[in-house]
Amino acid sequence: MIPVRKLISQFADIVFPVTCVCCGCAAASENKYICDWCENERFEYAHPEQGDILPDIVQTQFSLWNFDKGGYLQQMLHDLKYNNLKEVGVELGYILGKKFIRSCSVNSISHIENKKPVIVPIPLHQSKQRKRGFNQARAIGMGIQRATNWEIIDMGTILRVKNTKTQTGLNLAQRSDNLKSAFKLVHENWIKEVIPVIADDVFTTGATTFELAKTLADHGSGKSVILTVAKA
Ligand SMILES: [Zn+2]
Repeated sequence: MIPVRKLISQFADIVFPVTCVCCGCAAASENKYICDWCENERFEYAHPEQGDILPDIVQTQFSLWNFDKGGYLQQMLHDLKYNNLKEVGVELGYILGKKFIRSCSVNSISHIENKKPVIVPIPLHQSKQRKRGFNQARAIGMGIQRATNWEIIDMGTILRVKNTKTQTGLNLAQRSDNLKSAFKLVHENWIKEVIPVIADDVFTTGATTFELAKTLADHGSGKSVILTVAKA
């Protein structure tokens, strides 16, 4: 006898074939939410930033794709954040992690001063986390972990203690001011051994990731690497 759950799943596949969360085509497969075309061809790859543009506490910033205002990527990242699509976040993180590993940047972060890379997703303020039910940056971080085998910090290791309002329309200086002391390290016994690999969905001015990198560096971490899915 076919178990009921399997029957339901077969039925669901007929009624709702697995479609790509990005473009809606039917080419996505089981356990894969983004079709090959969207993964490999649809978006423009972003260029990594190094050197003068970044603050001292950041060694590399790497994004997967350029943000497409009003396009498929914006919609997908919006859905990820507000429609609780955790698995999509993990898949995006996995694609990002694979791409980063293949880029030359990874050689420069593997063995610096005997520190090891540890994934640090940008934490959400407790009230936002409660409202949304999950943190999209953590989902992306879990995907990066799947691609790299690097450790990811436990939830609650770093808290976002300041609930900042929307940063839209503010420049870097205003955003930085807004975010001052936004993060608090709860446990710090691990921090001196690591290169933080900060994970987030979009890199805009960098204010949020820079503030977190600063908090970590103030407690003795190595220079951070910033990985995001999109770059605005
Ligand atoms: Zn697609």
